[in-house]
Amino acid sequence: MSEAIFELSQTGRKANTQIINLKSTKININNKYLRTNKPLMPEVSELEVIRHYTTLSQENFSVDTNFYPLGSCTMKYNPHCLHTLASLPEFLNRHPYALPENSQGFLQCMHEMQTMLKEIVGMPGMSLAPMAGAQGEFAGVSMIRAYHLSRKDTKRTEIIVPDAAHGTNPASATMAGFNVVEVKTKPDGDVDLKELKKKIGPQTAGIMLTNPSTLGVFERQITKISKMIHDVGGLLYYDGANLNAILGKARPGDMGFDVLHLNLHKTFGTPHGGGGPGSGPVACCKKLIPFLPIPVIKKSAKQYIISSTGDHHKTIGHLSAFCGNAGIMLRAYIYLRLLGAKGLDRVGEFATLNSNYLMQKLSDAGFEVPFIERKASHEFIVSLRKETKQYHITAMDVAKRLLDYGKHAPTVYFPLLIPECLLIEPTETESKQEIDKFVEVMTKIMHEIKKVPEMLRSAPHATKLRRLDTVKAAKEPNLVWKKQ
Ligand SMILES: *Cc1c(COP(=O)(O)O)cnc(C)c1O
Repeated sequence: MSEAIFELSQTGRKANTQIINLKSTKININNKYLRTNKPLMPEVSELEVIRHYTTLSQENFSVDTNFYPLGSCTMKYNPHCLHTLASLPEFLNRHPYALPENSQGFLQCMHEMQTMLKEIVGMPGMSLAPMAGAQGEFAGVSMIRAYHLSRKDTKRTEIIVPDAAHGTNPASATMAGFNVVEVKTKPDGDVDLKELKKKIGPQTAGIMLTNPSTLGVFERQITKISKMIHDVGGLLYYDGANLNAILGKARPGDMGFDVLHLNLHKTFGTPHGGGGPGSGPVACCKKLIPFLPIPVIKKSAKQYIISSTGDHHKTIGHLSAFCGNAGIMLRAYIYLRLLGAKGLDRVGEFATLNSNYLMQKLSDAGFEVPFIERKASHEFIVSLRKETKQYHITAMDVAKRLLDYGKHAPTVYFPLLIPECLLIEPTETESKQEIDKFVEVMTKIMHEIKKVPEMLRSAPHATKLRRLDTVKAAKEPNLVWKKQ
């Protein structure tokens, strides 16, 4: 492993070209606020810094270097010009507290983006405030709650969540004060309507769904579900993380959903990996507009404004500082402008085509594909349950072995419904050649499962670190460097 940058430190060493001469700048800071002892900083040269971080970046996996078929998270390639344009000094140096009259360009971009996104999802209301998908979910279910309460409808304590849902769905509903009621998925991948019928009533505040679901199939009964929920007075929440599959083809608003979040950092211009910055705008139907989180960007007769009042008198409040995650939203805006309506259509088409092609090829190579008859959306599931039984190989072993072949592992053990599963999402940005290479590697791995299973159990062999103790890494992370 690379050392921590502090371990390279040599007393007195400096990166001179990076030092800003504080004496020449005219900032008057009262002496009592200035620190007297030196902060603990690594003393390194500029070259050492560059080498250190470049090496670290190369030890990582990224879409820029490797195939990254991480299901549910859409790790597609995003054009680097998005980054270049969003980093223009006029955007980068804009102070978050700058007055709207000094931010008309930025606000125009945000307003235009919001208009395009509303059209894409088929809903009239939007707030850009949430900083992640999960925060968008929390906003959305909080709006559902506020809506019912505003009508003095106080008995609605339950949110329905299918068993295939992403873990953030039940978590968000619980955080917003609801009891989560699970409904089962049928063997064909659709929601079990008989069970749903039994579980809904005057206590139902709403349902959270993603479509296509995390099983990689399009929920065919969505308009029926929508009617059932609305008939008992509930609302429908759409988890937009899988929007990539239906871009330009179908709109959640038309399916009957009332409120949703988008993951700009999956679908629109920013890769999702590494827990980096995100943005999860919420969109909603007309009757939920008063409840949107504030502030909201609007256009008045003369200019673009940042509004916290007026239409939003019943707002659920602030969710983040300022208007949301500016840099990520700018990337999304540029991405939308770059592709245009036709380009976005093609995103959905190629994401689906690539996924179906890969699904068929892996099935031909002997992998079990649980919902093959349904056709893949933008992602699909492979299950290794047979191999686990027969050769004592797990989905995790296959995931680790893929690293040896320079491929990022797909999502493993999610959704929880399918044992020993891989959730594979090739995305629209990969070529047929790259997908064929992945098929070749998976075919090799299938051969290894049968002939040299030990090779998989001890994988990865070619990475800097071997198998990590993931429980320890999660429960006792050691993230602090201490001076010896
Ligand atoms: C990623 C994801 C989320 C949560 O989004 P974050 O931005 O990671 O908080 C919710 N639902 C699904 C299906 C997802 O894939």
